[in-house]
Amino acid sequence: MKPTIEFIEETYSLRKDYRNIARIFSYGRPAGSANETYYVERFCKNPILMKMGMTEDGYSYDGKEGGNLFLKIGKDPKVLFSCHTDTVDRGSPFNAGDKKEIMLDISDMRIKKKDRAMACLGADDGTGIWLCWELIKAGVEGLYIFHRAEEVGGRGSSYIANNDVEELEKYDFAVAFDRKDNFSIITQQVGQVCASQEFVDSLSEQLGMNHRADPGGSFTDTANYTDYISECTNLSVGYFNAHSGNEQQDLDYVREFRDALIKVDWNRVIAKREPGVQYPPRQESSYSSYGGYGNSWGWSGRGVSNNTRSSYSSFGVSKKDSKTTKLSKDEFFDGYDNYEEEYLLFMMKEYPEQMSEIVSLETVKDSKDNVPTITIRQIESPIILDVNFIYDDWQKFFSV
Ligand SMILES: [Zn+2]
Repeated sequence: MKPTIEFIEETYSLRKDYRNIARIFSYGRPAGSANETYYVERFCKNPILMKMGMTEDGYSYDGKEGGNLFLKIGKDPKVLFSCHTDTVDRGSPFNAGDKKEIMLDISDMRIKKKDRAMACLGADDGTGIWLCWELIKAGVEGLYIFHRAEEVGGRGSSYIANNDVEELEKYDFAVAFDRKDNFSIITQQVGQVCASQEFVDSLSEQLGMNHRADPGGSFTDTANYTDYISECTNLSVGYFNAHSGNEQQDLDYVREFRDALIKVDWNRVIAKREPGVQYPPRQESSYSSYGGYGNSWGWSGRGVSNNTRSSYSSFGVSKKDSKTTKLSKDEFFDGYDNYEEEYLLFMMKEYPEQMSEIVSLETVKDSKDNVPTITIRQIESPIILDVNFIYDDWQKFFSV
């Protein structure tokens, strides 16, 4: 089969997203562990983001170095985006640089650990980190906070609430990417109303993915900001069974969610709740009336009325029925293994300047048929870190 350009592009995009997420998950990061420090110093505080103005506050977990990280995009953003750098991994020493093995289960498009014995996958809240990075990359205006020590009692965000009220009061929305499932806009945390129905409705409409009010929130960092910021929510990022050996991340969902988030116009989202006011908690579970969400995973759509599907459902590799096309396992790995060259050739044609910096075409002289082969030159990068870890397009997006 000769792949189309669209197929190559989308395969590559899917692989890249998977790879970048898996790389975040691969480092277990209990708060204050050597591996968390290593990860934050090396990747969260990478020189490109530092150059964009990333700052660090004076928070310290048990006397260990390393504060909350802040990056503001735009002049006067009204949204604060929140994730946390620590995970609940247990049972290993978590030395600096230790990694666990991550896999993508093609049968349900969920990211899982290879070794179920280890404590967790780390989608809570590695997925939040990935989403923040993706929004930063897309230039979405906001204050991005990479919180420390969430899993041990929201200590990083408590520090911010105690020390930086003036900054917090500039925002109308505090949006955490730290919630399980695929439908929640959290309206209550620790028994208090943190977001209004008007907020939920106006945001859900723009996301177009059938998100709805969920009063079942427990706690994440944005709960510490309810005295200063109008709408303090937590959004489903598509992980399941967090903190357990069977934690999983729905790749389908989070890619679609990322694309939807990038398009949200926050000027059209309603901020109604009064900061600091105690609202009587509502008891109803407003998602209980949305039954039939059941078996909606995978390639057949999420069963929502507006049916916003991400574009890879239209790969078109199956000749039999274009409406229900779905990559088979073989086809996925075929793409994985065999289309790299074609992808690179395509990119070299479309983006010769950018690609010339990282890829060169060489003819292997003693090859029988003298076929040109692609070699990837070592990237001469001023960035002093593992360039293999960084997004392929990281530099392109961030170095301007
Ligand atoms: Zn979390």
